[in-house]
Amino acid sequence: MATKRDFYEILGVPKNASEEEIKKAYRKLAMKYHPDRNQGDAAKTAEEKFKEAKEAYEMLSDAQKRAAYDQYGHAGVDPNMRGGAGGDFGGGFAEAFGDIFGDMFGQQRGRGGRQVYRGSDLSYAMEITLEEAAKGKDAQIRIPSWDNCDTCRGTGAKPGTQVKTCSTCHGTGAVQMRQGFFSVQQTCPHCQGTGKIIPEPCTSCHGQGRIKRQKTLEVKIPAGIDDGMRIRSAGNGEPGTNGGPPGDLYIEIRLRKHDIFERDGDDLHCAVPISIVTAALGGEIEVPTLQGKAAIDIPEGTQTGKQFRLRGKGIKGVRSSYPGDLYCHITVETPVKLTEHQRKLLRELGESLQKGGAKHSPGEGSWADRLKSFFS
Ligand SMILES: [Zn+2]
Ligand SMILES: [Zn+2]
Repeated sequence: MATKRDFYEILGVPKNASEEEIKKAYRKLAMKYHPDRNQGDAAKTAEEKFKEAKEAYEMLSDAQKRAAYDQYGHAGVDPNMRGGAGGDFGGGFAEAFGDIFGDMFGQQRGRGGRQVYRGSDLSYAMEITLEEAAKGKDAQIRIPSWDNCDTCRGTGAKPGTQVKTCSTCHGTGAVQMRQGFFSVQQTCPHCQGTGKIIPEPCTSCHGQGRIKRQKTLEVKIPAGIDDGMRIRSAGNGEPGTNGGPPGDLYIEIRLRKHDIFERDGDDLHCAVPISIVTAALGGEIEVPTLQGKAAIDIPEGTQTGKQFRLRGKGIKGVRSSYPGDLYCHITVETPVKLTEHQRKLLRELGESLQKGGAKHSPGEGSWADRLKSFFS
């Protein structure tokens, strides 16, 4: 066996060549030794040269193999690894080009046939109340749908005229573009991949063959759904092109602001005002819940900001096993529009409280201390 040539020498790159340089050098050699360019006697030599270049490229483009080769030379790389490179020249070449040229032309279309596109997804915003979100509901929505155009019976051609087969692609929707010695299939620029030409488009549908209408769709809103969640309605988006599948419809839920409750996940919050009398003396008050009225026992001496939790009176989320809680946030209301008599009573109360001192004002002691240290 003849002495093997150095892989770097074969590709004509320096020892410290980058991956990109190696790829570029190989690409150049692959073009040079392509069978289309080397006929007759030259073909045999070109095949040998190409195999050599391919082997060198396979070794040097693999970081692990390259490291082994750099350290031990040809002895460092397993001879069995080269088995696949020989044999069928055609296959090896096609494979090499798949690797190296695939990225040059981007995505390629399927073999033959017309370009098929999936329809676009549609989105529909639906506003619902908190009660509806909690219980779930069956809603009806109006969405766009597409029907075959009656005027042209879906062909897109003006009545009395004919749809023609595209002469550029002969109806396949694709054309072969030659780039040097290899060819790539591309969408036909003449018919945009439909394979058809409409000389006189139907005026009702502008050659689309279909007309946008409205249809009513039944949508099940699951109980517990929250603001921002989406419901997918498969196949109710825009229709596909050239027989492609339709897109999906997404119903986006918007929760309307509620007069009383604020939702936080599965929990609900509400502000409950109480009078200073109830706050001071205590007593039972009525609070609203989504399931109806409930009662809370307000203890004597309740302050603003006190929270009462009603377990399980929140919302059972779509994926929750238990409902959340309802938090009632107490605010003590200052009475307004007092009569002279009421003012007098309050002044008397004030004097009485003052005589009693700080014990009547749970917040005042610490407040006075904080003021003192703030001003000192
Ligand atoms: Zn039409
Ligand atoms: Zn065409």
